[in-house]
Amino acid sequence: MSYNVNEKGYYGEFGGAYIPEMLYPNVEELRQNYLKITADPEFQAEFDLLLKDYVGRPTPLYFAERLSKKYNTKIYLKREDLCHTGAHKVNNTIGQILLAKRLGKKRIIAETGAGQHGVATATVCALMGLECIVYMGEIDIKRQAPNVARMKMLGAEVRPALSGSKTLKDATNEAIRDWINNPIDTYYIIGSVVGPHPYPDMVARFQSVISKEIKTQLLEKEGRENPDYVIACVGGGSNAAGAYYHFLDNPDVNLIAVEAAGLGVDSGESAATSVLGKIGIIHGSKTLLMQTPDGQITEPYSISAGLDYPGVGPMHAHLFASGRAKFIAITDEQAMNWGLQLSKMEGIIPAIESAHAFAVLDEMKFQPDDVVVLNLSGRGDKDLNTYIDYFKL
Ligand SMILES: *Cc1c(COP(=O)(O)O)cnc(C)c1O
Repeated sequence: MSYNVNEKGYYGEFGGAYIPEMLYPNVEELRQNYLKITADPEFQAEFDLLLKDYVGRPTPLYFAERLSKKYNTKIYLKREDLCHTGAHKVNNTIGQILLAKRLGKKRIIAETGAGQHGVATATVCALMGLECIVYMGEIDIKRQAPNVARMKMLGAEVRPALSGSKTLKDATNEAIRDWINNPIDTYYIIGSVVGPHPYPDMVARFQSVISKEIKTQLLEKEGRENPDYVIACVGGGSNAAGAYYHFLDNPDVNLIAVEAAGLGVDSGESAATSVLGKIGIIHGSKTLLMQTPDGQITEPYSISAGLDYPGVGPMHAHLFASGRAKFIAITDEQAMNWGLQLSKMEGIIPAIESAHAFAVLDEMKFQPDDVVVLNLSGRGDKDLNTYIDYFKL
């Protein structure tokens, strides 16, 4: 079985491009060009150089000694939290902006929920001197004031989405409307392995630098390229896709995907998409998503804004349905406690998204010589207020 996308844009039965007719030319232009452009050695050289000198790659693969002792196994942390802007998202926005430039685009649009992808997009637009418009739900603008300020400092225009629930899906609708109206000069940067084909594959390829580095670094440290486990949190699924990418076809590498259970999988307040989701269409892609019996998308909930997404990318839907990856749901409480525990045990304050991945260590049993790689997708600075409120710090 293949876990990569096929020529038609599907992962098993998931994926494809379910888009309005008016959007077809934009998506088709991208589909016809993305592989050709990204395979060009000049593109790759520019991408690699920016990842090195601007993002700070390769990120370290850190042997967490105290954690390893406690769980009596070998635990390595892939330090995506050390990327410029504080998370893995910038790997993807750099790749896409280089692609946009090569397609001759002058204007960049994006949508954002918590603001993390908006910041990563505004950052690379500043880097390239391109106009940047970020759509964001009016409610999210109020909730995420520091990220709105960051985007403004970086020169982006933040446009409020005023319709519907005034959150992420409304911002997405606005961005799509903009793209339909501006098909020639505008490029739409999507922030995870979601959206119509070819976005999920393209974003996975840009993020695959994570597992490429893990292989080289493990060979150096352990004398072998392949870990026994790779653990990553899943919102849309991009950091996980990047951490799994070069191990997808090796069944000896166990893939663990961690979703947000919020207040509990059965509480009605969660974002555990794979367990609760049914097949449906979101963001132009056929995938698993949380919905009511009559097909309305359900508002997800998680204390971590980055996991608070009602769907999951089509690659992950396929990894779930085929059993290739094991999916585990972790509650707010477990994740928050891990945020504190990791800070105290290793001197690393994780993003709350990433803290979910650590909680798996309490749910699984490892052998002493197992090599466990945990993808630490981002740092916790952005979550300080949530930590303060939760722990009364
Ligand atoms: C956005 C974000 C995520 C979730 O997005 P994926 O596409 O699933 O990776 C996870 N961790 C951090 C730190 C984030 O900012």
